[in-house]
Amino acid sequence: MRKKIVAGNWKMNLDYSAGLSLFSEVLNMAKDEIIGDQLLVVCPPSLYVYSLSQMANQSTNVSVGAQNCHQAESGAYTGEISASMVKSVGAEYVILGHSERRQYFGETDQLLAEKVKAVIKTGLKPIFCIGETLQERNANSHFDVIKRQLTDGVFDLSAGDFSTLVLAYEPIWAIGTGVTASPEQAQEIHAFIRKEIEARYGDAVAEDTTILYGGSCNPKNAAELFSQKDIDGGLIGGAALKSRDFTDIAKVFN
Ligand code: PGA
Repeated sequence: MRKKIVAGNWKMNLDYSAGLSLFSEVLNMAKDEIIGDQLLVVCPPSLYVYSLSQMANQSTNVSVGAQNCHQAESGAYTGEISASMVKSVGAEYVILGHSERRQYFGETDQLLAEKVKAVIKTGLKPIFCIGETLQERNANSHFDVIKRQLTDGVFDLSAGDFSTLVLAYEPIWAIGTGVTASPEQAQEIHAFIRKEIEARYGDAVAEDTTILYGGSCNPKNAAELFSQKDIDGGLIGGAALKSRDFTDIAKVFN
């Protein structure tokens, strides 16, 4: 059975004390209310990863991740953070290829392929994001876009390395817009992604890969989205900034 994951991406929100309060609420709710074996992954701004990891130390169902890292191990890259640094402060996951990184920071499939390798080499697990723009969907090229992002971003990994990866399908037109992909639209792409994985790595790897949906996911629409056969959880932005909403989304898998 593949792992069910609900990951929260705080993006560049919340100051340190607000972040600690939110996370302590999430930890308490997860302890009291999560009864399945789903995992919650909270991805705060990198500065807070150490504190949150310390707080999550005793938790069995909450883990911490970063939102990005650099592809090099170390060196003269002012302002950057390497995968091993992220690991050394206690994180387990790193979001890579979020559409905001691709759009505002010019991250290409080729650069992301390097980052994915650096992250896996360190022993962290990438949450690798893919997804099309509205324009690409309207031009009916969304399947090609997804295929390209997979091929250029992660399909040169060995099967063993690929197995450490979590994928997140995030249609860009659904991120932060309040417009969610319908469960059918999301399922169609998730099934397509799984088929592409199967073609590249075989049935067993495809069946074991966790594929999250992201884009205006909230406590109201999560149950229907997560009930789809190939949707194994969510990558949550806005709703991850409220402990009640985030936990309620995760409780879909109870
Ligand atoms: P959203 O963001 O839930 O606010 O749409 C999702 C994401 O960017 O991961």
